[in-house]
Amino acid sequence: MEKLIITVAPNGGLPTKDHNPGVPVTPEEIIEQGVACCEAGASVLHFHARDKDQKGCFDYEFTKKVLEGLRKRCDIIVQPTSGGWVDKEIRIQAADLKPDMMSLNVGSINFRGRVYINSPPDVDYLAEKMLQYGVKPEIECYDFSHVEAGIDLIDRGLIEKPALFNFVLGIKNTISYSPKHLINMIDMVPPGNLWNVIGIGRHQLNTQTLAIVLGGNCRVGLEDNLYYSHRVLATNPQLVERAVRLAKELQREVATPAEARKILGIKNS
Ligand code: ZN
Repeated sequence: MEKLIITVAPNGGLPTKDHNPGVPVTPEEIIEQGVACCEAGASVLHFHARDKDQKGCFDYEFTKKVLEGLRKRCDIIVQPTSGGWVDKEIRIQAADLKPDMMSLNVGSINFRGRVYINSPPDVDYLAEKMLQYGVKPEIECYDFSHVEAGIDLIDRGLIEKPALFNFVLGIKNTISYSPKHLINMIDMVPPGNLWNVIGIGRHQLNTQTLAIVLGGNCRVGLEDNLYYSHRVLATNPQLVERAVRLAKELQREVATPAEARKILGIKNS
C-alpha cells in the first residue's frame, strides 16, 4: 500500500480564536504551526489567508509570506485555497506565486444558506491557471457529481494524472458522513489517481481511520474540526500526532513531504 499523506488544514476561512484559540490567523502563526505539524508528520498544509478581523480573504501578500516563510523552514507541501465567494481572478491570483498545490472547487452547491457557485467556465479558468503555473490541484468533491466533474477535467487535459480527489463528508446539505458514501466515491476514481478524505467535526476521526485502512489519504485540522474529543478543544499538531499514531497502530507508513511530492507528482518547490 502507498504511504499515507497527511494534510493539515489549520484554519479555513471561518473559525476564529473565539471558537478555538489554536486557530492561526496571521502568516507568522500559520508558519509556526506548519513547521510543528510537518515535524509531527503532516506533508501537506492547506490554508486560508485572513484579514485583520480574522475573516477569510485572498490577501496576496499574506499568502506570499506564508509560502516564503514555510519554504525557508521546512519542505511541507503548501496548498493555499482557491475556494471562496469572490471573483475567479481574485481566487486564483496566488497561482503566480507557484505554490505546490491549490484546492479546486469543481461544482456548485447549496452551502451555508446560499448557492456557492462554481460555473463550468470558471472551473475551467481556475484549472487552466493552475496548469499554466505548474500548481497541483486538489479536486474538492462535496457531491458525487463533483467526482464526475473532476474526471471530465482530467479527460479534457486540464488536470494531469495522478489527480487528487478530495472527498468532503459531513457538511450540511452535501454528502453526509457514511463509510458507504466514502466507498462509493472511491469506486468512482479512475485507476492511476489518488484520493483524500475530510470528515467534518467528530467525523474527522472516523474518516482518517478509514483512509488509513482503505489505502487513501486524510486531512485533519481545525478548519474541519475544532475538537479533540467531546467538548475538548484540539490543537493542529495534536490532530496530526493522533493521525500518525493511528497509522502506526494500523501498520500504514506515513509519507514524508519528499515522498508525498513524488506520489502526488508535485512540480513546484
Ligand atoms: Zn479550506
